[in-house]
Amino acid sequence: MTGKRRVLVIGGGASGLMAAIAAAEHGAKVTLLERNRQVGKKILVTGNGRCNLTNLDQNLSHYRGGEPGFAAAVLGEFGLSETLDRFKRMGVHTRSRNGYLYPYSDQASSVADALRMEAEHLGVKLALGNQALALEALPEGKGARFAARTEGWTYEGDACVLAAGSAAAPATGSDGSGYALAQSLGHRIIKPLPALTALRCREAFYGRLAGLRMEAVVRILADGKELALDRGEVQFTKNGISGIPVFQVSRFAVRALDEGKKVEGRLDLLPGLTGKGELEEFFQDRLRQGGWKGPRQFLTGLFPEKMSLCLLERAGLSKDRKAEEWDEKELGRLLLLVRGFRTEIIGGGSFEQAQVCSGGVDSAQICPQTMESLLVPGLYFAGETVDIDGACGGYNLQWAWSSGYVAGMHAAGTCPGKGGVL
Ligand SMILES: Cc1cc2nc3c(=O)[nH]c(=O)nc-3n(C[C@H](O)[C@H](O)[C@H](O)COP(=O)(O)OP(=O)(O)OC[C@H]3O[C@@H](n4cnc5c(N)ncnc54)[C@H](O)[C@@H]3O)c2cc1C
Repeated sequence: MTGKRRVLVIGGGASGLMAAIAAAEHGAKVTLLERNRQVGKKILVTGNGRCNLTNLDQNLSHYRGGEPGFAAAVLGEFGLSETLDRFKRMGVHTRSRNGYLYPYSDQASSVADALRMEAEHLGVKLALGNQALALEALPEGKGARFAARTEGWTYEGDACVLAAGSAAAPATGSDGSGYALAQSLGHRIIKPLPALTALRCREAFYGRLAGLRMEAVVRILADGKELALDRGEVQFTKNGISGIPVFQVSRFAVRALDEGKKVEGRLDLLPGLTGKGELEEFFQDRLRQGGWKGPRQFLTGLFPEKMSLCLLERAGLSKDRKAEEWDEKELGRLLLLVRGFRTEIIGGGSFEQAQVCSGGVDSAQICPQTMESLLVPGLYFAGETVDIDGACGGYNLQWAWSSGYVAGMHAAGTCPGKGGVL
């Protein structure tokens, strides 16, 4: 092959833009196909418009997927410090809020703008309003290895990065069509499911709890086995539970439900009292001081009133007796609920409501050092299209930057011994 290697990037979100920049700065002639009329639309809505673009805590437990070691290998190639350095060179400095990193401007638009400007500066051709409808791997001797067909044109490339996102938040452009393109080239898709979402619960009392916010530990159990836990402010909605700690555990609940398991949530409503006998002692002390109160008043100051009423009702405690009149069993029932407020999970949010998807292209069919397909040489993957999802806190974007950069750099074919073919 003579001349510059032609790299096609499908998808102009976080991972596709980073892949295009990496490929261009490694000498490739890059064309990026984006079905929207603008690139980076999803970036604009991240972090409530401020874009939590990564996190100082890069513990690998924040990255999930069928092959947990996969993300580690990719982050080892292009991790946090490389990302921060690359953004600095684009003019984006960051500020930390408890380790959560945001652009100094506090505007997600500045991240999207900086990526777009950098891509344009490096000569990336942005083919906007172009949806790849089909992707073909061409036989040898055709002068190109890939052909992406759009409504009005067929784009050719010597390598292709598929960075079409997931099925989450389709209003931003990621409609799940990337999965079909990967599948058409023989790749296995782990069923995409909504992740980072609220959870719907069976019980009727949520109608009365709606609007409450309480610090709690949320545990998810499937068929009695604990799958995940997180602590933070839980929000009660008319259908169930929401808030950051619920988002963090939601992918485990939704996947277990999809596997036909019985999924239960347990909320520790006084998560500070974890020592042996600490909760019991706390309540005994409270009874000594205020046992003369009626049950509702007894819980005043500890829980919001709506929650107190719900606890008393679920524990079967009459509202007419004083708290000091409860027998051991009655108090025991109340404490059991405070320690583990059980709820049956019946579903997550829709793809429209979810921030990301779990599932995607099976990472067992991708080389983690290069993001190149193990089935189709010259085909690379990046971002949410792959079966990796991150926790809340900047991990999904970090995955997009890391996988995008690694894919783009190798698609440019200038990294000898690491999958690039020139
Ligand atoms: C409300 C919200 C808030 C979030 N906040 C954060 C946060 O603060 N921090 C964080 O780390 N993560 C956050 N995320 C998640 C993060 O935004 C995504 O994980 C990340 O943007 C995924 O990047 P991507 O490039 O893989 O996919 P996308 O950004 O979805 O990009 C894919 C692009 O491909 C295009 N496309 C799709 N199919 C085709 C096709 N066939 N042809 C051409 N183009 C196509 C789409 O239009 C889209 O522009 C948030 C997500 C949402 C929805």
